[in-house]
Amino acid sequence: MDLYAATTNPGKLRDFAHAAAPPVRIQPLPGLAAIPAPPEDGPTFDANARVKAIYYSLRAPGLLVLADDSGLEVAALDNAPGVRSARYAADLAHPTNADTPDNRNNAALLAALAAVPDSRRQARYRCVLALARDGQILLTSEGTVEGRILTAPRGSGGFGYDPLFFLSALNRTMAELAPADRLACNHRGRALQSLLARLDQHPAPSL
Ligand code: IMP
Repeated sequence: MDLYAATTNPGKLRDFAHAAAPPVRIQPLPGLAAIPAPPEDGPTFDANARVKAIYYSLRAPGLLVLADDSGLEVAALDNAPGVRSARYAADLAHPTNADTPDNRNNAALLAALAAVPDSRRQARYRCVLALARDGQILLTSEGTVEGRILTAPRGSGGFGYDPLFFLSALNRTMAELAPADRLACNHRGRALQSLLARLDQHPAPSL
């Protein structure tokens, strides 16, 4: 069974592909690059994932379309940047010379946490997945991973906030993990596995 992921982010596609097991395969949604992106201005990850899944599934008739919304929640910032994770530095108009959106977001996060001690830098990645076909939501699921935000970036793997996201149990940031370890403790992979477990139980005629 093929699920078509509505993302062009190679990091997300890798996470999905790793978490899926036969007979399920994760494929990139055909023609995605030519489809204008829908607005992502919902108040929750769940709302945004549903909007994306409905929107893209209406443009890919008959296909099972998988959409995700994900981001970083930092306890000391009242769970910001949250749904605004991809646009955090832009929202704050944070002044920085950083060259990429990810580096600008990381600089903005470090500035926001400058006065926050290590003991209060707990954070969580959260991912909500929505699976839809022909504009109907079939399933949703959620995955999280807990960590803490460092005071300086470490490592060059992954994407987004990974160089600042420290996993105490592994004594590494997400960006320092070997790919297999990163995939083993990944909010997106956990959300997909939870969704696939329920896909198994879904009545066959409707899928
Ligand atoms: P989305 O594409 O709207 O889901 O935005 C997700 C944003 O949250 C990304 O641009 C990253 O800033 C952040 N994010 C989500 N998942 C991850 C991850 O696995 N690693 C690092 N950053 C992530």
